[in-house]
Amino acid sequence: MPGMNKGIALLAGDGIGPEVMEQALRVLAVVEKRYGITLEKRSAPVGGAAIDSHGRALPEETVETCRRSDAVLFGSVGGPKWESLPPEEQPERGALLPLRKIFGLFANLRPAIVFPQLVHASPLRPDLLEQGLDVLVVRELTGGIYFGTPKGRDDAALNAAGEPDPRAYDTLVYHRSEIERIARVAFEAALLRNRRVTSIDKANVLASMVFWRQVVTSVGAEYPGVELTHMYVDNAAMQLVRNPAQFDVILAGNMFGDILSDEASMLTGSLGMLPSASLAEGSFGLYEPSGGSAPDIAGQGVANPIAQILSAAMMLKYSFGLTQAYEGIFSAVGAVLDEGYRTRDIADGVTAGEAVIGTEEMGRRIAEHLARGEHPGN
Ligand code: NAD
Repeated sequence: MPGMNKGIALLAGDGIGPEVMEQALRVLAVVEKRYGITLEKRSAPVGGAAIDSHGRALPEETVETCRRSDAVLFGSVGGPKWESLPPEEQPERGALLPLRKIFGLFANLRPAIVFPQLVHASPLRPDLLEQGLDVLVVRELTGGIYFGTPKGRDDAALNAAGEPDPRAYDTLVYHRSEIERIARVAFEAALLRNRRVTSIDKANVLASMVFWRQVVTSVGAEYPGVELTHMYVDNAAMQLVRNPAQFDVILAGNMFGDILSDEASMLTGSLGMLPSASLAEGSFGLYEPSGGSAPDIAGQGVANPIAQILSAAMMLKYSFGLTQAYEGIFSAVGAVLDEGYRTRDIADGVTAGEAVIGTEEMGRRIAEHLARGEHPGN
């Protein structure tokens, strides 16, 4: 879409955040040239850095910058310096939770990607991942058992025999509208991928999940080009390690999605490779690496920038509809890996021709590949 003009808020944050953000910007600069779009970039403080400069993890001016923008590219926040603050003032709770709330980010998209070149990094047997892996977990983020009411504890409760027996409880509740909107995100995402959705539930035990299955099925009828299957969550947990390549898009509620997305990301074996997106209704979204601020390696120039670069790629695809730019970045990353270049976290130390490089060189090589234009959509 040449001529497109979008505003993006850049919230680099702490630790390796600013280092990897710089490389994502390097790649985005090439995207602007190659795809004829303009990205207005607006940096704003967040996390520990914002606590130091503005006294809070999410200053009002940062919220305003996000409001004025079409998407947020987020680095990571947190570190030992701020760990003694009260929990609600800490960088992660104080910035990410309010951002989710303010912008209604109800859909969490976490791809579990294993590039074929990095199969050795996965804890799975290589023959299970021969072609690599690209599974997208779509998790409902603002409802379900984590937020359902009533929730609480009853220390004065009695058991059937009338004896004291304290109890605690949560409520798993979903409205039709909540299921419909997250299901639509999953089906729309599948249209941009391999057109298969596996919806996760526990309909054999839970009334809320019988309803989940019904509603997902009725939304699925609007997408005849997408194949929908249903799977119980316990089976899905097993299938993810048994044969992960069978999945394209996994759709799940808040708790099941929380657990399965962590399981799926572990299959990749390298946090530095994993992007994520949190989407609102419409096209607004917040994009960030799945990992944290990695204080153990911050400032050393060795962090892997690929998770941040792929987060920027997801932004182009899901907020701006630039699927070709997404694919261009994806294959530029693959090309650099093909050439044997690795940051320290993804090097195996035994592959012939492997060269260990730093953050900046990895970003530069990916940008150069993209600029050379041997990739889809160029
Ligand atoms: P972490 O993800 O920061 O680090 C875990 C391990 O993975 C470390 O050894 C780190 O070096 C490595 N790692 C992570 N990203 C990497 C990359 N891009 N390249 C190379 N190696 C990478 O998790 P942690 O150590 O548990 O947390 C550190 C801080 O980050 C804490 O303050 C935590 O609260 C915060 N955190 C923030 C977010 C976020 O901003 N969304 C998420 C998770 C943790």
